[in-house]
Amino acid sequence: MNAYILKILRGFWSLLVGMKVTLKYFFKKPVTVQYPYEKREIAPVWRGILNQLCDAKGVELCDGCQICGRICPVQCISMEVYKDPADNKRKTSSYIVDFGRCMFCGLCVEACPKKCLVHTTDYVLVSYERAGMVLGKDKLVKR
Ligand code: SF4
Ligand code: SF4
Repeated sequence: MNAYILKILRGFWSLLVGMKVTLKYFFKKPVTVQYPYEKREIAPVWRGILNQLCDAKGVELCDGCQICGRICPVQCISMEVYKDPADNKRKTSSYIVDFGRCMFCGLCVEACPKKCLVHTTDYVLVSYERAGMVLGKDKLVKR
């Protein structure tokens, strides 16, 4: 009988210990963020969705050297390159990143000799289909 009462007292004690932790946090300011209605501030060094930069005139800085595509460990960057007879410069007719495969490692950004490939702080990339994660120049090039 004594052992039975002891078990009840131990159970009650462990309940009090648990409640002590609950009470400690009960009166503190909640840390939960009601995403997507509330969003945390993102650090500028965040490696989010890639963007390609242009110069002040809105001309693409990328010259289609393909270094980013070659260095990408998962080969999720592809592009088509041509030589523009107007200025004899190499340009891209398409530049595609499959963000469904991208692991946001930043190697492509580091390697870009033109420094025109950058990570943004944008991380919202949702789609019901994998094809929706594949972005082209219309989404990636920022003028
Ligand atoms: S961040 Fe990494 S995985 Fe993503 S495209 Fe660049 S090199 Fe490839
Ligand atoms: S490394 Fe830079 S300049 Fe070269 S193709 Fe990629 S984005 Fe363009």
